[in-house]
Amino acid sequence: MSLADQWRRVRARLQAELGEATFNSWFKQVELNGVADGRVMLAVPTRFIRNWIVSHYADRLAKLWADEDADFCRVDVLVSAEVRPEENAAPAADSAPAEEAAPAPSPAAARPDTLANAVPHGFEDAGVGAPLDPRFTFEAFVVGKSNELAHAAARRVAEATDVTFNPLFLYGGVGLGKTHLMHAIAWEIRKRHPERKVLYLSAEKFMYQFVRALRFKDTMAFKQQFRSVDVLMIDDVQFISGKDSTQEEFFHTFNALIDHNRQVIISADRSPSDLEGIEERIRSRLGWGLAADIHPTDYELRLGILQAKAEEMMLRNGPVAIPPGVLEFLAHRIVSNVRELEGALKRVVAYASLVGRPITPEMTQEVLRDLLRSNDRKITIEEIQRRVAEYYNVRLADMLSARRARAVARPRQVAMYLSKQLTTRSLPEIGRKFGGRDHTTVIHAVRKIDELRQADSGIEEDVDLLRRMLEGGHGPN
Ligand code: ADP
Ligand code: MG
Repeated sequence: MSLADQWRRVRARLQAELGEATFNSWFKQVELNGVADGRVMLAVPTRFIRNWIVSHYADRLAKLWADEDADFCRVDVLVSAEVRPEENAAPAADSAPAEEAAPAPSPAAARPDTLANAVPHGFEDAGVGAPLDPRFTFEAFVVGKSNELAHAAARRVAEATDVTFNPLFLYGGVGLGKTHLMHAIAWEIRKRHPERKVLYLSAEKFMYQFVRALRFKDTMAFKQQFRSVDVLMIDDVQFISGKDSTQEEFFHTFNALIDHNRQVIISADRSPSDLEGIEERIRSRLGWGLAADIHPTDYELRLGILQAKAEEMMLRNGPVAIPPGVLEFLAHRIVSNVRELEGALKRVVAYASLVGRPITPEMTQEVLRDLLRSNDRKITIEEIQRRVAEYYNVRLADMLSARRARAVARPRQVAMYLSKQLTTRSLPEIGRKFGGRDHTTVIHAVRKIDELRQADSGIEEDVDLLRRMLEGGHGPN
């Protein structure tokens, strides 16, 4: 794919998105000047057009070019013509739609000559790293039981002047803060030791760079680039599995850095020994330093994170009235991961502000209906049978057996009742799971327990306890 073709495609996409008139007003005279070091250079005739493009289309342009090639990490717009008196004239008003031509860009909108500020920047120097998220700092990271080890290790690595654990291997499920911690380390090192060269990138990007270097027979430069860093962080290393030559290169890079006492930090969604598709010697070497895992969050941590995020949101956007109970409700119900938890809070706040309604627990439930449903644990009939048998101290087999003795028949009815209440199974399906009983037996059980709940507070309590245990997913084991 030649550069000219890519440029043609970017233009075509812009034209399709903006419409003929707008496109002609601003982009018709834009020329591609060339590409160097991942910088796409565009030239326009006047400073005015340059400023307009920069302030209105920066993100879009950067994105379109990045879509062509992930290596195009910035777009610069240059003014090709010498400064001429008419430079501040707007493009012909008749070709520009009114709303576009009307306000001249304010001085504040006229950003520097480059679009680079549209593309968040990480390690400008190397050009191979990925951008750092400014929100992912240690200050913004809430520590709880599930992540305290990973957090402490990350802090140590960020603050230490000598290399303590090498590599530091952070692992845990998706959305639990691995990337956040890595960025926090990078920010901290930049602050404390600006002279140290820190490189953060995803394993995928690492592979991409390497494959590209192979294709362009430029592996020396590739090696140089990586081996000259003081701290190398590779995120989501599980994605490196499989590709033999990349693994090999990764391993060499990794060894070279460790041998030279440079800090390496790796993250993955599972422990080193569980990484499938990665050679044994690499796996074992990955585990040589400190492997710190991040466990799923508990209720307290989730609540703490929500409080911190709510506070941060208010600092940025002004006060929001979040009534008591709402954060607790979210912490209780959104258990999947922190990313979803954060997303849920944002959605509720955004919804309230958009439709101008106060946040209430009811509204929260309404707005998050789908998310809540997917976070609801799926309770199975087997689980219900097991719990009920345990609770009444009968054998699990008796749930399925034909025995009619009250001591086993009643618990069996309770289990059928709960299966009807807590699962979406049909009556015949439930019957089948209880030793192939008829659906009328299930109907009978449901009626019976309903009756008993009215009449017998003991049964009422049993059913309630069991239900809560099953719904909360936290029982004695
Ligand atoms: P991972 O890389 O493990 O998939 P991320 O680091 O991307 O997860 O975290 C997902 C989101 O949750 C991010 O917005 C991050 O800031 C937030 N997050 C995760 N853990 C915490 C925490 N302990 N305190 C504050 N925010 C957190
Ligand atoms: Mg991540």
